[in-house]
Amino acid sequence: NTETVVVAENHINFASHPYEYDLIVIGGGSGGLACSKQAASHGAKVAVCDYVDPTPKGTSWGLGGTCVNVGCIPKKLMHRAGLIHEAILDAKSFGFACPDDVQHSWETLVDNVQNYIGSLNFGYRNELRSANVEYWNSKARFIDAHTVELRDAQGRIEKKTAAAFVISVGGRPKYLDVEGDRECCVTSDDLFSLKEPPGRTLVVGASYVALECAGFLHAIGFSSTVMMRSIPLRGFDQQCAQLVVDYMQKDGVDIWRGCLPKKFERVGKQVKVHYTDDKGEMKQDVFDTVLLAIGRYALTKQLDLDKAGVKVESKSEKIVGVGEGIGDTEQTTCEHIFAIGDVLDGRPELTPVAIQAGQLLADRLFGNSRRKMDYLGVPTTVFTPLEASCPAGGEEEAIKTYGKDKIEVYHNLYRPLEWALPMMELQPRAARKETACFLKVIVLPSEQERIIGMHIVGDNAGEIIQGFALAVKLRACKRDLDELVGIHPTSAESFTTLS
Ligand code: NDP
Repeated sequence: NTETVVVAENHINFASHPYEYDLIVIGGGSGGLACSKQAASHGAKVAVCDYVDPTPKGTSWGLGGTCVNVGCIPKKLMHRAGLIHEAILDAKSFGFACPDDVQHSWETLVDNVQNYIGSLNFGYRNELRSANVEYWNSKARFIDAHTVELRDAQGRIEKKTAAAFVISVGGRPKYLDVEGDRECCVTSDDLFSLKEPPGRTLVVGASYVALECAGFLHAIGFSSTVMMRSIPLRGFDQQCAQLVVDYMQKDGVDIWRGCLPKKFERVGKQVKVHYTDDKGEMKQDVFDTVLLAIGRYALTKQLDLDKAGVKVESKSEKIVGVGEGIGDTEQTTCEHIFAIGDVLDGRPELTPVAIQAGQLLADRLFGNSRRKMDYLGVPTTVFTPLEASCPAGGEEEAIKTYGKDKIEVYHNLYRPLEWALPMMELQPRAARKETACFLKVIVLPSEQERIIGMHIVGDNAGEIIQGFALAVKLRACKRDLDELVGIHPTSAESFTTLS
């Protein structure tokens, strides 16, 4: 039998196909690595292909993809740096003699973050070795539906065949395509390894990346400005999103609403930005750094996917999923080629989603499993100075799905006890003085007040929501929250006293 057997549940009969490998994974980010190791654990012959430019000027990263190299990991460490600065500012109220002008070394932060990332890259190489997964440091492109061409850094070319492929190449930050943007601006691919302190920074965009970066830069001590063209955190509960932005604004971040960048030019080491304001008038300003955080595109162009019959969505360049749940088997328009993570159209761009989707796919391909990824109600956190977190959609989404009169919303404002002593100072930080943290629970009265949304804007929101997300997944009702005994004094206990 020389036919690859791919059935509805994706199972591959890897004992009887004629190809060199059972699975080739293209892209060594979180999803691709998890999928390859899981497939190998079922006895499959697996290779991962991920290009790392070994030259000193190399622009690509070590194994681990966006999350490890230029995403979640460095971002969370820099968010932590911002929180530490805030804690130092609070420390006087707790009896510590801290100077008002604490010095910060950007170079030390970047060096330490980059060294840590290097250790993770190294660890991933070892993990692949231990898991019996071959690693190829090459760029791949399809020759046909079962063959890829690999080109390494020295230009050497070889061909490899496999019964199945998983594409997990992720994406890259977009540019605006206005005059001067590529010459004058940086993106999140550059920020975490900037050799010099960013100084006065303009962040263009208003979603996760933009607000998180503006937030930690400001909290560390750099003047930061957010230029947003419309609403913050599109898709997120808008009441919560506004609170996040209001807090940043009260804390000193400049928020420019309704503005659009039109042109960038270098003025010495600085960047002059020409933009239209909310009245459509042309304005200009000068910044040390301009960070573009206007979304990401999928890295599919270089793969020659048409040679394998894999369709991409024309605008986002993301891979189109097929099947009943459109993409919930991660199958593409070529039945033995799959896509996971940021490259798959219409799915949350989140590391744990890519990891779980990859592992479940490997189990279905090689482990006789039928379990599919549940893409609904995935918990997420925006790591802004005041974090925002939720395990499911916001109020707007609930209204759209169920209707305004079919949902009930409970909410509450609270001040964390941790703020109490700094708030007693004569001049507490303006943001704290004027802000309360917020939580919201959305329920369906017709289903015994089953919880369909839970949101918190406050310190440690991500840590708090991770646990409550389980309750939502297990279809908990408002009554279950009421019957839960709070842990006192915590912020999370506010969920147990909503009325
Ligand atoms: P998004 O695609 O989510 O948002 C893009 C932002 O840029 C929007 O505010 C958009 O405004 C704005 N924008 C787009 N085009 C322009 C333009 N031409 N001029 C001005 N503004 C523009 O991008 P992100 O890169 O922030 O995030 C990508 C994904 O990465 C997120 O969806 C998230 O899933 C993931 N992520 C998750 C994180 C986490 O879990 N903590 C952290 C970082 C990223 P508008 O709304 O008007 O379109």
